[in-house]
Amino acid sequence: MTRTADATPTQATIDCLSQLIGFDTTSRNSNLALIEWAADRLASAGATLRYDYNAARSKANLFATFGAGPGGVVLSGHTDVVPVDGQAWTSDPFTAQIRDGRLYGRGACDMKAFIGVVLAHAERFGAAKLREPLHVALSYDEEVGCLGVPGLIADMKDAGLTPSGCIVGEPTDMRVIASHKGGRIYRCNVRGCAAHSSLTPKGLNAIEYASRIISRIQDLAEEEESQGERIDGFDVPFSTISTNTIEGGNGRNIIPADCEFYFEYRFLPGVSPDRFIDVLKQYVDGTVLPKMRKRNALADVSFECVGSIPALDAQESDEIHRLAMALLGDAHGRGGKVAYGTEASFFQNAGVPSIVCGPGSIDQAHKADEYVSLEQLYQCERFIGRLVERLSVS
Ligand SMILES: [Zn+2]
Repeated sequence: MTRTADATPTQATIDCLSQLIGFDTTSRNSNLALIEWAADRLASAGATLRYDYNAARSKANLFATFGAGPGGVVLSGHTDVVPVDGQAWTSDPFTAQIRDGRLYGRGACDMKAFIGVVLAHAERFGAAKLREPLHVALSYDEEVGCLGVPGLIADMKDAGLTPSGCIVGEPTDMRVIASHKGGRIYRCNVRGCAAHSSLTPKGLNAIEYASRIISRIQDLAEEEESQGERIDGFDVPFSTISTNTIEGGNGRNIIPADCEFYFEYRFLPGVSPDRFIDVLKQYVDGTVLPKMRKRNALADVSFECVGSIPALDAQESDEIHRLAMALLGDAHGRGGKVAYGTEASFFQNAGVPSIVCGPGSIDQAHKADEYVSLEQLYQCERFIGRLVERLSVS
């Protein structure tokens, strides 16, 4: 295992990562300055570039290809970061700072570290005699529900690009993660009827009917915990569902006409993402709505899916899994399953076998004083260096 004092990254990696941290790409901001900077670097090293913009053209995905032909490996990362609002940082979050063998800054581990290492290798990618292409995919809006990556993948397919594997460099301490849960977020609107609270029977209380649906959600969660499918290796080894925000009512003496709540579920690989919503819709159509409409014909309940991430379920026999394990050698290895969702499952759903493997720890992500250790950057450099060798004509 290489854990010696010489396990420090190159200046090129430090410089790239520092540049990346300097762009404030909090998801609410444009990422175009970062994308232009990365595109320059990749293009001058010889990559062919493809851009895919959001509707407002304020954000872009970038897909860069070194080499030509079918197949190849995608190195994928999201360019956006979570906000620093309200967090107590020791140093400016958008100025990289090295202290005690760690590089600090927003996005240091999640996930500009991986992108920094990849970009630092651009010239090497360009100079290599590649047997199959090496692709670099940079997305926007991952942190707000993986909104950018579907466009990136659609554009990749339109271009006829058919990578044979994808490595998503979310922080895993450079372990290979083959599996994570999927998730969905729903908004539920319950429409009742307002009335003066002295005339309660003339109204239809939206909050009270919403609470019946919420109770059913809690029942579902308890059933899942006690009798649902279990997969060992996850922090929580079963699928979960919970109501996380609620709003309703506009006066203490008014029967509330409207109630809106959000619930989220996270399902195990292999579990149908429609399972929970199907049960809830059945309950609403069969029990809640008939009751409501008996009192008021205009009553309504609607569900809207506002976020969706597929589960990741890579196989150890997948070529990309075997390749990543081989590149890591004996230094690291299999990391099993993680609780958080990633863009890897989107690539997997598009027919590109994917794993997650990147420098830094998810424990440091999204927090004040986010950092990546220099040792992790070094491990990632070795990984990427070996990948180039593997993909090159010997
Ligand atoms: Zn991330």
